[in-house]
Amino acid sequence: MSRHFDRLLIGSNLKMYKTNQQTLEYARQHQALTADIPRSELTLFILPAYVTLADVCRQVDHTLLKVGAQNMHWEEPGQFTGEISPGMLQEIGVDLVMVGHAERRQLFGEQDGMVNQRALSALTHGFQVLICIGETAEDKAYRVSAERLRQQLTIALHGVQAVDLERVWVAYEPVWAIGAGGQQADPSYANTMHAVIHATLESLYPEHGSWVPVLYGGSVNLENAPELIAQPEIDGLFIGRAAWDASDFYRILRSVIEIHRGVTK
Ligand code: PEP
Repeated sequence: MSRHFDRLLIGSNLKMYKTNQQTLEYARQHQALTADIPRSELTLFILPAYVTLADVCRQVDHTLLKVGAQNMHWEEPGQFTGEISPGMLQEIGVDLVMVGHAERRQLFGEQDGMVNQRALSALTHGFQVLICIGETAEDKAYRVSAERLRQQLTIALHGVQAVDLERVWVAYEPVWAIGAGGQQADPSYANTMHAVIHATLESLYPEHGSWVPVLYGGSVNLENAPELIAQPEIDGLFIGRAAWDASDFYRILRSVIEIHRGVTK
């Protein structure tokens, strides 16, 4: 089934890297390098550290580069020391909020229910939301990857109205594939898991589930990006380490644009 979402989505999670000045320079180079690429079928985004968001949001042209937060608390406001509220992100002009990144789940104990609360709150406050899901190495070894993905996605989207789906993106990031030491996923395995995610979206939202794009993340680099984007179920790439240099981001982008155009998604 051909889907409604035909844009190419490419973004980078900067994690706890880059100071304010380094992030501003990265965003400046990013915009300069990609300025001549039409955005009619392409959306680019970066997710810098919280402390850089205000300056980056002021500096960039948001029609060329979307800026997102790596997380957000669902309450507004509240006694939650160390957390960031939806209103704080609204005030500085953030476009996008990521929820459920594997490092939040694994290192900071985030549960599926919290991911759901963050997603609902982000949508209520008008943000685009990027929901990250992915199975662990153990899930994969026990062959329950598809079940795990269905479960994470179903809980993350609990209570989300179909009308809000146009502001939802999903990133499939197998936990065993992300970060330093991560293994590269076989593109056909990634494609199969993306098909599971698309089918889950369409079963949860029979009319509009096909609108939601699903990005692949996990040790994406210049070598494997073309084969990943050639997979019919993969709508975009979510890149960490390999995109933290703006020229590398640009090279990866260039290597996949034409391929993406040629594949019916
Ligand atoms: C990530 O952790 O979201 C990620 C995509 O990292 P990397 O590309 O470095 O594996």
